[in-house]
Amino acid sequence: METTKIVETVAFNILKQAVIYLPDDVKQALTKAYAEETSETGKTQLKAILDNIELAEKYQAPVCQDTGTIIFYVKAGVQAKDLDKIEGALTNATRKATKEVPLRPNAVNPFTGKNSGDNTGRYIPYMHWEIVQGDSLELTVMTKGGGSENVCQTGMLVPGEGIKGLKKFVIDAVIKAGAQPCPPTILGIAVGGGTDIAIKTAKKTLLKPLTEPNPDPEIAKLEKEIFEAANLTGIGPMGLGGKTTVLGVHVDYAFRHPASFPAAVAFNCWASRRATARINADGTTEYLTHKLKW
Ligand code: SF4
Repeated sequence: METTKIVETVAFNILKQAVIYLPDDVKQALTKAYAEETSETGKTQLKAILDNIELAEKYQAPVCQDTGTIIFYVKAGVQAKDLDKIEGALTNATRKATKEVPLRPNAVNPFTGKNSGDNTGRYIPYMHWEIVQGDSLELTVMTKGGGSENVCQTGMLVPGEGIKGLKKFVIDAVIKAGAQPCPPTILGIAVGGGTDIAIKTAKKTLLKPLTEPNPDPEIAKLEKEIFEAANLTGIGPMGLGGKTTVLGVHVDYAFRHPASFPAAVAFNCWASRRATARINADGTTEYLTHKLKW
């Protein structure tokens, strides 16, 4: 099979996997939250979420009606073939998935309000590119829900307030978001760079499994502190009260200008959807986050 056809097929498969099957780490975190939730209403909400996940898998239907905005992260080996054709293949895969999975058409022209009908349009699906060593191609897809996107925030904090200011910024964002991002959420937080770098870095951390804290112990400690503080807000599952407001927190950073302290918090809803596959130079494919289940 030619490379572009393989890329199209694999991109279609990971899109389908992502919208139907939540990653194991997210399911485990939700199961643990259900076991530990003390609020009756919160427990009922978590039970409904877990039942919903089971039904999506059983009937091979998207786990949420909002199948999100489609974002691809491409790690392209410098020696990989046909790199100029990848963009077209990912767009075709998006069109095919919209029709066949199906996905909700979520791409709207901001000026005319017209929906393209197939989840494509200017810059959509969005593609992040990273050039790496080797000849393989690693494709990751994130389908990002609108409710959780609507509460993402960037801010220019006061450098002198440092990490204390960052914690306040994040917890204020969680309180302001309330029920809107369909909690329990996952928080991707980043500081430094500039506003663009901070929000891109924050969102990219949402691809990390919940079982992987930051390898820097100081940052891992900060992730734990923010996790505990966010869960003290009492917002709870679907905003109806309880001790499970967030399932996990990821923090990353870039170096910053001495006069600036950019920060960003990207929310992901409980329907935290991502899937990754690697296409080797010989055309063989490894599905890295999901086993093919159809
Ligand atoms: S925020 Fe997430 S869970 Fe809520 S409706 Fe959107 S995609 Fe679904």
